[in-house]
Amino acid sequence: MTSPSLKADCQTCTALCCMALAFDKSEMFAIDKPAGVACPNLGPDHRCTIHAALKSKGFQGCINYDCEGAGQRVSAMFSMRSWQDDPALLIPMLKAFHAMRQVHQRLVLLTAAADLPLDTGQKSTLHRLQQKLADASICSPQSQIAKDIQAFLESLAPLLRGKSMN
Ligand code: SF4
Repeated sequence: MTSPSLKADCQTCTALCCMALAFDKSEMFAIDKPAGVACPNLGPDHRCTIHAALKSKGFQGCINYDCEGAGQRVSAMFSMRSWQDDPALLIPMLKAFHAMRQVHQRLVLLTAAADLPLDTGQKSTLHRLQQKLADASICSPQSQIAKDIQAFLESLAPLLRGKSMN
């Protein structure tokens, strides 16, 4: 499989973050919203009705949020069928989105690791982990792939320390 995009594309997403994530009333969000409930600002077409005024309306948190490509990937997995049109899809899409976020968060870390001065063996390990993760739709902290990635990233600590001193 080719590497999935790690850049959010809201145009090809069914607004999963606007449903799946919880937020607390704060300087980042104007309201409280539990996970699994559509934001009241979401239109029926997966589009935010206050998109142009998010900051002034008190939703800076939405501007800051980045799903790193997980949203559109889950939407594609469901063939762009929507939890807004079919309530039976809400829980499966919610679960798939949370799982895919963990996959993409780790893919972002591995992509950053590729910028380090890796030796041949480290490059090979990185490539293997990226390939394995690219095919995954779940990567819980307890999974073997998550543990392998954690161990690999920890093994790069000396390189990271060297980079921060440069
Ligand atoms: S304010 Fe707009 S972008 Fe933020 S969660 Fe609600 S619908 Fe989505």
